[in-house]
Amino acid sequence: MAKGSVIVLSGPAGSGKSTVRERLIARNPDFRYSISDTTRKPRPGEKDGVDYGFVTVEEFREGIAAGKYYEFAEYAGNYYGTPVSQLVPFTDRGINVVLEIEVQGAMQVRAKDENAVLVMLLPPSFSVLESRLRGRGTECEESVQRRLAKARNEIEYFMNYDYFILNADGCIDECVRQLEVIAETQKYRTKNNSDFPVNFLLN
Ligand code: 5GP
Repeated sequence: MAKGSVIVLSGPAGSGKSTVRERLIARNPDFRYSISDTTRKPRPGEKDGVDYGFVTVEEFREGIAAGKYYEFAEYAGNYYGTPVSQLVPFTDRGINVVLEIEVQGAMQVRAKDENAVLVMLLPPSFSVLESRLRGRGTECEESVQRRLAKARNEIEYFMNYDYFILNADGCIDECVRQLEVIAETQKYRTKNNSDFPVNFLLN
């Protein structure tokens, strides 16, 4: 059986990452969302163990020391990390694990696993991103500017990603389909099927 892939999904705030990821997982039983740990406080409606594992800074630091995290990063004053336990047991069973993480973490995944697939989700233009962030109405001007500055920084990593998907307004299902196609191709990578030759000769 082909191993499941590690699929990294990155993109600026306002790119629609979590909507695309939720829909992808809702319609594909062989995909799983990797639940990260974070030291940020839960937002209204977020559940511990579902959206994130919410931990203290001390717990997070202990986790780093104990080798708990496959990758981790500091983002906007908080720690975020992917526990190893969210990956290996699932990819070994052929399940694709989706990591919705920012660029520093994505680069760590790339360095550790050349077969990981890195996908950058982007709005169709910078001005669309700006109007989406303002349209939310939940952010103050300073926060909008901070997020836009982050987005400028993130796009500099474009060439470190394998694929990009453009999320135009109203095109979530098309983005999900494109992500499914990308994941499907990974099943046929020789490197994801290293035991194939032996099994082939035995049968
Ligand atoms: P938020 O606080 O909005 O949920 O997430 C802030 C940023 O951290 C987002 O870009 C999100 O994708 C990223 N993020 C969430 N979990 C992780 C993680 O485990 N590792 C890394 N490196 N980034 C993460």
